[in-house]
Amino acid sequence: MRLYETSETGSIEIEIGEDLQARHEELAQRNREWFRERGIRAFDITGSVGAGKTSLIAAMVERLSPEHGIGVIAGDVATTHDAERVSGKGARKVLQINTGGMCHLDAKLVHRALQHLPESGLDLVFIENVGNLICPSFFPLGAEARVAVVSANEGSHVIAKHPAMFQSADLVVLNKTDIADAVGVDLTGPVSDLQRLRPGMTVVRTNCMTGEGVEEVLRALRLA
Ligand code: MG
Ligand code: ZN
Repeated sequence: MRLYETSETGSIEIEIGEDLQARHEELAQRNREWFRERGIRAFDITGSVGAGKTSLIAAMVERLSPEHGIGVIAGDVATTHDAERVSGKGARKVLQINTGGMCHLDAKLVHRALQHLPESGLDLVFIENVGNLICPSFFPLGAEARVAVVSANEGSHVIAKHPAMFQSADLVVLNKTDIADAVGVDLTGPVSDLQRLRPGMTVVRTNCMTGEGVEEVLRALRLA
């Protein structure tokens, strides 16, 4: 596997080995300490493009902002659409990171973004990862928990096909359950695949557009 890390002076090609993985873990640890020192709880929201990461974050922010100081970091290859969709829901600060081609966030990018959050008054940070179920699995960001959002229209085998992502997740949100029948997906498939991969793991069924199940997600994350 190769990772392209662009610096100001150009691009270098790096072979991902144990050293680099240890380095990513170190950088994630630095973020973990950054959050701990400030009393901030941070959550990493992963999932494919269109799974509902932004809708889930928007719904959680709307519900929690009356009582919490919230920062949101939205990661995408390009555009500020997600940040725009979350703003107006009551977060103190919504930041968009454009990775300029990189298909995941890493702890270093997140650390840089953290420097742009307000100095005080935050107790929650939601980080929306770049939409894909593959490489974000290998990059810990230093969040307290990773939420993997899967939508019913991703098919019956989405969990079995992406074991690394679901190994790295702490909670799975099965979204758009209202359209499962319409797209001919039997949701017992992904749920039983997950139970094989991660016995006992919590799965919450949601329809984030209407807010259904969001309260249960908050309870699972000990946010309500
Ligand atoms: Mg999004
Ligand atoms: Zn990637």
